[in-house]
Amino acid sequence: MGDWSCDVAPSRRHVPPPTISARRRAGTHSKSLSHFLLRLRCAWRGADPNARRPDPAYICPASPTPLQKTKRGSASRSAPAKGSEAKLPFPSQHASGLCYTAIAHVPGRAGSRRSGVAMAAARKSAGVLALFDVDGTLTAPRKAATPEMLQFVKELREHVTVGVVGGSDLVKISEQLGKSVITDYDYCFSENGLVAHKNSELIGTQSLKSFLGDDKLKEFINFTLHYIADLDIPIKRGTFLEFRSGMINVSPIGRNCSQEERDEFEKYDKVHNIRLKMVSKLREKFAHFNLTFSIGGQISFDVFPQGWDKTYCLRYLEEFQQIHFFGDKTYKGGNDYEIFESDRTVGHTVTSPDDTALQCRSLFMSK
Ligand SMILES: [Mg+2]
Repeated sequence: MGDWSCDVAPSRRHVPPPTISARRRAGTHSKSLSHFLLRLRCAWRGADPNARRPDPAYICPASPTPLQKTKRGSASRSAPAKGSEAKLPFPSQHASGLCYTAIAHVPGRAGSRRSGVAMAAARKSAGVLALFDVDGTLTAPRKAATPEMLQFVKELREHVTVGVVGGSDLVKISEQLGKSVITDYDYCFSENGLVAHKNSELIGTQSLKSFLGDDKLKEFINFTLHYIADLDIPIKRGTFLEFRSGMINVSPIGRNCSQEERDEFEKYDKVHNIRLKMVSKLREKFAHFNLTFSIGGQISFDVFPQGWDKTYCLRYLEEFQQIHFFGDKTYKGGNDYEIFESDRTVGHTVTSPDDTALQCRSLFMSK
């Protein structure tokens, strides 16, 4: 006879069947023969009716609905299945707040473990995703995440599915969120989702080269280099175009300039609108390419296909009914703006990683 793994069910071996004389000596027997026989049967089954533990054989006549664990671990009542015979804990357990379902009370260690796994899975809200920007949201800008933040994400993952979306490539995101980022998050979208991982497996990649094709790329690059060659500005350096997997970065002065030269160009550009005029010309010339031009930083602007902002990753998240997005640059022109405003997301603006944790605890972990 095996042990009962349920901590409220003692082993049968330690409960010898009581004799009638023993019960009478103890003064615990009922004058009602039928009640006495019921108590005797319970004792033999290891189901002392005075103990706070359920008897799987007992059918509670007074309680019409069983108590069940909800996703958040609180108790609620639900109607018994039609035509089924609900086997319930003792009524005293309802009053004590202990909650069981008939199927959860299955003797045996393996059964108990299965119940635990099922309970943990049930705690996680189905169809809800918490999706995070990286810089300024999970980490300080361009810094690594703190151990406290990494631990927080682990805890949050027990409540909801968790994803991260960043504009940087996977190498850079790994430096900030750890080498195990693709396993630490249910979804990991680097380069705004052009590289997509789910449960640590690569589920999609996209690149500017394969999307536009070499002919269109060459046409764009040739025109842009000619435009820069004809541009009359105080100084020029090297690396006017930087070709990345998901975008082209264009710099009229060249990315090889010094910090001092950057500062000078920024001032010059504010007066002469060098980048603004250039973007206007390129937008007109390549309207049929459906490109987005994003002026950022001091000396350059980014060019990428329309929709290749953070909303790109949403194509992998069709199964979710609620996508909560958390980002710090959710204002117009910020790199979180499009996904924050998307009809597919519930947007949350955060001011720091601490604020992110605070908002998440309130939203997902307080119930
Ligand atoms: Mg950010």
